Amino acid sequence: MIRVVLTSPILMSSSIDLHSHSTISDGLLTPSELVGRAAAQGVKVLALTDHDDVAGLEEARAAAQTAGISLVNGVEISVTWNNRSVHLVGLRIDPAYAPLRDGLAAIRAGRGERAKLIAAELGKAGIAGSLEGAYAYAANPSIISRTHFARFLVEKGVVKDTRAVFKKYLVKGKPGFVAHRWADFAEAIGWIRGSGGIAVLAHPGRYDLGRTNLGGLIADFKEAGGEAIEVVTGSHTADQFIQFAQYASEFGLLASCGSDFHGQGESYMDLGRLPELPSGCNPVWHDWPEMASPEFKALSPESKAGLTQHSALSTQH
Ligand code: AMP
Ligand code: MN
Ligand code: MN
Ligand code: MN
Repeated sequence: MIRVVLTSPILMSSSIDLHSHSTISDGLLTPSELVGRAAAQGVKVLALTDHDDVAGLEEARAAAQTAGISLVNGVEISVTWNNRSVHLVGLRIDPAYAPLRDGLAAIRAGRGERAKLIAAELGKAGIAGSLEGAYAYAANPSIISRTHFARFLVEKGVVKDTRAVFKKYLVKGKPGFVAHRWADFAEAIGWIRGSGGIAVLAHPGRYDLGRTNLGGLIADFKEAGGEAIEVVTGSHTADQFIQFAQYASEFGLLASCGSDFHGQGESYMDLGRLPELPSGCNPVWHDWPEMASPEFKALSPESKAGLTQHSALSTQH
């Protein structure tokens, strides 16, 4: 019989989740519930990264204190790059930084208008009542998103689940799609950095870009001050973990990992279930004080290296 045992109380990168959503954007759990679930699932360091809003961070911080885990202030900003929608995650941001707050408020204002257009498009496809239907799912109406429309379409029985919605509706070429101009790419990186945060290119494997465009996006991101890319994320395949670890090393970028958890049954990956970063990655948290917890400090340098590798595991026969 083979038993796998932990040889040291190591803080593995599976206990670090730097991308998650609450009801402040399109998640299903309140900030407190999200933190509680993360802690129960073994997450030690969690970033709350709601879309275009930082309103959940205070509640999440209090909950994290109670649960005994670290909370990283985060946000996921919707931007436009070469006429495409791209997401940037800001980590260790200052949520009080005025240019960031103003920029996020402007993005939120655009969401209301877009929602009306989406509802009109769905109306043309014979689906009535979607505006009210979507808002009924939006605990924070200023972040009305396609996810809320998706939940309404599932409720109506139009599509079986929210993931299937994004194949048949709300995406380019399908009913309910509306082209939208989000924040300026380079400007948003400036807000993140200006607030003291680190700009991370979110789920680069999700943009359906060929090699040339992907290289162009990552080069522009780096040029504008971006410092990290998500290598391990819920929507990447195992091959993409390796692919984006290579991009990170090629472009001299740090590597991040986050589940992009929105809620049970809706997300690709649950909290606390992230695979390790591939070896050779320089983790985005390599110099963070959050990682200087007594538990972490007590570890030897060899064990710390295990933060990105599997060295904490040994097999016993
Ligand atoms: P929006 O910001 O309103 O354009 O909505 C984008 C959100 O829709 C993302 O943050 C995801 O939560 C969700 N979404 C987009 N594409 C997919 C997909 N293929 N599968 C599941 N959720 C998706
Ligand atoms: Mn989302
Ligand atoms: Mn995203
Ligand atoms: Mn996300």
